[in-house]
This record gives sequence, C-alpha cells and structure tokens, in this order.
Amino acid sequence: MTTPEWYEQAMCRDMDPEWWFPNDRGATAVSRMAILICRQCDVAQQCLQTALDHNEPFGIWGGLTAAERRALPRTKPAYCRRCGIPHTTACLRGTR
Ligand code: SF4
Ligand SMILES: [Zn+2]
Repeated sequence: MTTPEWYEQAMCRDMDPEWWFPNDRGATAVSRMAILICRQCDVAQQCLQTALDHNEPFGIWGGLTAAERRALPRTKPAYCRRCGIPHTTACLRGTR
C-alpha cells in the first residue's frame, strides 16, 4: 500500500511505529499511549477508514485496536461527535 495523502497530517508520523504495532496483543502501556495520540489526531477518521477498507488485521488505526475494529460492524457503534471515531472510552479530544 502506498503512503496515503492523509499521512502527511498524521500525529504518529515521526513517532516510533512500534507503539501502534505492539508485539503482544494485550493493551500494553505503549499501545494505550498510541491510542491517546490517535484521539488527538486530525486524520483519525481517514486512518480508521483505511484500516477498515483493507481489513487490516494488525495494529492500532484511528485509535482502535484490531479487536475493536473487528467488533465494529456487529456493535454498530456511535461515532463520537467530537473526534469522529467510534471509541467506547472517554473522548480526550479538546474542543477547538
Ligand atoms: S489516528 Fe493514530 S495511527 Fe492513525 S494517523 Fe493518527 S496518530 Fe497515526
Ligand atoms: Zn471522541
């Protein structure tokens, strides 16, 4: 997959990609950090959509883990009005 245009604005652009692809599948401290960063990211919706379009089986995309993405169609989640991501925990996005 070529680098998508939205990646120019990605919060994670200059960060360690391993945070988004933690080795063990559990919610490690670094993956929680990655999720916090995603919640502040301007292109989180595009990022999540890309993962959904490609059925991406690994990593955190748009602030959602692989397991959370797999659960999406079944649970019909509410898309957060603040950040546009269908997360289940509190929104950490500031109002702008
Ligand atoms: S939503 Fe997260 S993984 Fe996606 S571009 Fe933004 S910071 Fe990176
Ligand atoms: Zn939100």
